Amino acid sequence: MTFIDQWLRTDIRNINAYHVPSAKNMLKMDAMESPFGVPEELKDEFLEYISYSEVNRYPDANANELQATLRSLMDIPKDFGVLLGNGSDELIQLLSLACSSGELIMSFEPSFVMYELVSKFAQLNYHGMPLDENFEIDLKSTLLAIQSKKPKLIFIAYPNNPTGNSFDYDVIKEIIRSTDALVVLDEAYYAYSEKSFLAEIKNFSNLVVLRTISKIGFAGLRLGLLVGSQETIEQLNKLRLPYNINILTQVSANFLLKDRQRIVSNAKIIINERRRLYDELSLIQSLTVYPSQANFLLIKAENAKLLLESLKDSRILIKGFAISTQLENFVRISVGEAKENNVLLECIKEFYG
Ligand SMILES: *Cc1c(COP(=O)(O)O)cnc(C)c1O
Repeated sequence: MTFIDQWLRTDIRNINAYHVPSAKNMLKMDAMESPFGVPEELKDEFLEYISYSEVNRYPDANANELQATLRSLMDIPKDFGVLLGNGSDELIQLLSLACSSGELIMSFEPSFVMYELVSKFAQLNYHGMPLDENFEIDLKSTLLAIQSKKPKLIFIAYPNNPTGNSFDYDVIKEIIRSTDALVVLDEAYYAYSEKSFLAEIKNFSNLVVLRTISKIGFAGLRLGLLVGSQETIEQLNKLRLPYNINILTQVSANFLLKDRQRIVSNAKIIINERRRLYDELSLIQSLTVYPSQANFLLIKAENAKLLLESLKDSRILIKGFAISTQLENFVRISVGEAKENNVLLECIKEFYG
């Protein structure tokens, strides 16, 4: 037995590590990144701008300028509080730290894996309510489960990852009303979706909204935000490690996120490409494509595992799911720019001949 084996909490030893596949020289269509990087014509100015960062100093602990930039980009009302995280993953973890050990986190299955993972880290219980065959919430059984299990925290990805749909708006409102849990609406894909719960924060004291810039072109900066009432954010802010947003992230985001027009028009390009991919893929007999409000498509595919391998041989990375799970015969494909999507379409058509 190694030292760490006898030293470590058994439940941590038993966790399967979060696996990120190597993407060297691959067309990345597995992780919902945006295909759009820093525009060529802005690169010199961007470099100049970040070169003035005082890397010998700690960053602004409250990241005030960055807060203002994000508020303006996402139209966050003045009277809401904003808490910044090193990616929204960090904020999911921070919320779990606010719970007492043994309390319960509830979410839905299938959904974002991080909710269950952080509940394990923090020695909390986790319950995933199964979605129905259309990946919608079953309200009746959810309300019963809330009544009997009394969750402390409920995560709802809106739109949901990996299914791509947004759950029914009124169903979610019923859930928020029915519980004294803190309900977290995770809007990682807000830029690609028609609706948001942001404005509902003023109507429900137990509602917070989680956002990130990862899916709109800035995954490498690692920056997420939690929006809630001033009182809620002020208390949760005590759990944030000081200086969690590094200076290069603060400065880069301040420069890059001011270009709201470009961010919005890039999102429009992806939404159009999503429609085109949906239409083209739906013509292939062996596939069932699910409607999506996000920058990816969930697809039920004949020979899903072989398709994945075949695309990998063509240097295209998409996401598959573990065998003996509900999504074993599915793949998830991030929507890229036109030329990437065309390469993907070619390869998939060839695979199904
Ligand atoms: C991608 C994703 C996140 C993680 O975002 P980061 O800000 O990159 O940590 C959170 N929630 C959902 C639902 C996601 O799909």
